[in-house]
Amino acid sequence: MSTTVPVRPPVPELRTAGSVLPAARPQTPFLRLDLDVAVARYRRLAAALPGTAVHYAVKANPDPGLLARLHAAGSRFDVASPAEVLAALAAGAAPGDLVYSNPVKRRTDIELAHLHGVRLFVVDTLEETDKVAAAAPGSAVLCRLVTPGEGSDWPLSRKYGCSTAQAVDVLTHALTLGLDAAGVSFHVGSQQRDPGAWAAPIAASARVFDQVRARGGRPHLLDLGGGFPARLVGGCPPPEEYGATIGRLLDQHFGARRPDTLVEPGRGVVAEAGVLTTEVIGVVRRGEVRWVFLDAGVFTGLVETLEEAIRYPLETDRDGGPTGPCVVAGPTCDSADVLYQDTMVDLPLDLAEGDRVRLLGAGAYTSCYSTVGFNGFPPLVTHVVP
Ligand SMILES: *Cc1c(COP(=O)(O)O)cnc(C)c1O
Repeated sequence: MSTTVPVRPPVPELRTAGSVLPAARPQTPFLRLDLDVAVARYRRLAAALPGTAVHYAVKANPDPGLLARLHAAGSRFDVASPAEVLAALAAGAAPGDLVYSNPVKRRTDIELAHLHGVRLFVVDTLEETDKVAAAAPGSAVLCRLVTPGEGSDWPLSRKYGCSTAQAVDVLTHALTLGLDAAGVSFHVGSQQRDPGAWAAPIAASARVFDQVRARGGRPHLLDLGGGFPARLVGGCPPPEEYGATIGRLLDQHFGARRPDTLVEPGRGVVAEAGVLTTEVIGVVRRGEVRWVFLDAGVFTGLVETLEEAIRYPLETDRDGGPTGPCVVAGPTCDSADVLYQDTMVDLPLDLAEGDRVRLLGAGAYTSCYSTVGFNGFPPLVTHVVP
């Protein structure tokens, strides 16, 4: 180990602070973020999961006003970078309310989080456990299990997570390093429509807890991840169904030895608080197919339409009349900038240039995903309804 003081890279500011919604009809495209809706969704999810701590996943939408309102409502936070740590603390959170959840982190980022009092980190390898022990000595670690991501519209499983056997090794190793081998985390995939997706990872977690106990550990915390869905095209069960299923699974697999639990919802809290308003810049025919071009696209926050994974319900100024199928595309010259084509969208036949099209459920993974200016189109603006 080097004894020199590490040079910490400057922490970039999150440049996503929303302005208050102007009274006049604002220039499109913009995201209208209604903080009351986000708080109501937070409360409903928290009520559906009694006894479980709710850590809002900041990456879904890091708007500072949103974080402050969620903190005031009782939310804790899931963070994954120095800027997110500072944003959560600035919102009023105590460092003990944060879980640092990406399993592979820059060493200086762990040090910075530790310096600010963060004491709970997710790992999924022996190497990262060593790193946490060195950069955040005495902290607690959760070991992330791999999940298949089936049933979710935006799987998160290809990148992180280990097997139960590896998790037992990782947590046992954590004990030898003087860390609190706190337990297990997993993520069942974002926009998870099947509450049953929690069954296999909860069962696997219980096996890890047993085996870590057999090796002298005292695991006490289970991180059930995010994945709680928003009402998008195709629908989803209500939060209460997720809460009931998860509660039953915890009883079944942990019985009287139920650990403390936490969840890390992003989309389930903030998606329905956002409406992305766009304007039609052109309607053209290519052969028999009608193409509707909007002034927002894949590079202006709608990244999750890639492979048509996330399907936002659309509303237009001309709803009510006859409709027909359309390809929906964004404004840039990149051919990837097509939102929906394989499954076309029914839109009013008289939809024309200058009409507004609103994408519902767009409060998560949009404003923060916008490019800084691809093809000269500025980043997506947020107008907050406080
Ligand atoms: C992105 C992420 C979340 C939030 O996921 P949602 O599907 O938006 O609820 C939670 N935990 C981790 C580790 C994540 O990476």
